[in-house]
Amino acid sequence: MRVLGIETSCDETGVALFDSQRGLLADALYSQVAMHADFGGVVPELASRDHTRRLLPLIDEVLGEAGLGRHDLDGIAYTAGPGLVGALMVGAATAHGMAHALQIPVLGVHHMEGHLLAPMLEADAPAFPFVALLVSGGHTQLVEVLGLGRYRLLGESLDDAAGEAFDKAAKMLGLDYPGGPQIARLAEHGDPKRLRFPRPMTDRPGLDFSFSGLKTHTLTAIRQLDAAGELDDQARADVARAFEEAVVDTLVIKCRRALDVSGQSRLVVAGGVSANRRLRERLDRECAKRGARAYYPRGRFCTDNGAMIAYAGAQRLLAGEHDSATMLAVPRWPLADLTPPASTPTP
Ligand code: ATP
Ligand code: MG
Ligand code: FE
Repeated sequence: MRVLGIETSCDETGVALFDSQRGLLADALYSQVAMHADFGGVVPELASRDHTRRLLPLIDEVLGEAGLGRHDLDGIAYTAGPGLVGALMVGAATAHGMAHALQIPVLGVHHMEGHLLAPMLEADAPAFPFVALLVSGGHTQLVEVLGLGRYRLLGESLDDAAGEAFDKAAKMLGLDYPGGPQIARLAEHGDPKRLRFPRPMTDRPGLDFSFSGLKTHTLTAIRQLDAAGELDDQARADVARAFEEAVVDTLVIKCRRALDVSGQSRLVVAGGVSANRRLRERLDRECAKRGARAYYPRGRFCTDNGAMIAYAGAQRLLAGEHDSATMLAVPRWPLADLTPPASTPTP
């Protein structure tokens, strides 16, 4: 089955073609980051308009790359939520319009199910069941994954997401959005011993997270260094390092606990922050110590992309699931509300 995947939930237009027999055939991405940069954040109306501009050319691009035409498609999957409603509607309307014209099934996919299944696109894919750490710009969740659509929420952030915290800390240091990669780069030159930031909510049992206090702590540290006339390039790198160490350490501690609680020996890490090199090193070491294993998407499939939507959609379309005539755009949508497909997909 050849499935076109469309991602338009935020500021990235992602399109990909997944073939259930041959794997990923093509993927393309257009990022709006430069367009929103002047506004200090994503402007929803501009995002929707830009998705409208980019989407059809990107679809033609992936079809061309795969040497296929629209009539070779067997199904279309799009991100139905969560996300910006106007941006979601561009993908949903395009997917429904095309599917109707081609007389093929179409399906709205949960964006976080896409992130969650992204490591399945790798050669050495994890088998079910596993524990997943979803760490992105809008989510920080630990989920026990028993199968496709069988997701049990173990814990989540009570305030900011880890990626959001990276972005805000970066802003405090005068770095551009997205802040994660910038903090990571700056932290390379930082002295890990100069500053120590708190590891929020690790001193008590439980699998929830909180990153807003760490954000305040970071701001206070920057202000103190500045007041003392010590906020030079080295100090900024030291702050970045202390911040990254604190987030990574917190995530590692909670992953260890989640593996303990669930008794699982496979850990999937996905979403933008899963691209973080220090996080991967620490988790790999932690897993090795306990005879477990960590799985990640390739770098460019950590952040938003069409491939994860094509893959997740293909699994559900293969199981016979599809939308009715109504397109879906669901801004808020808990992952634990998803249900497994009625029948098991055949590879
Ligand atoms: P959600 O998926 O929750 O709706 P989103 O789609 O905006 O949110 P993603 O695209 O998955 O989020 O990830 C973007 C986030 O990942 C940003 O906050 C960014 O700073 C962060 N990020 C990307 N690379 C890194 C990195 N190397 N280290 C830390 N954070 C990173
Ligand atoms: Mg993004
Ligand atoms: Fe995302």
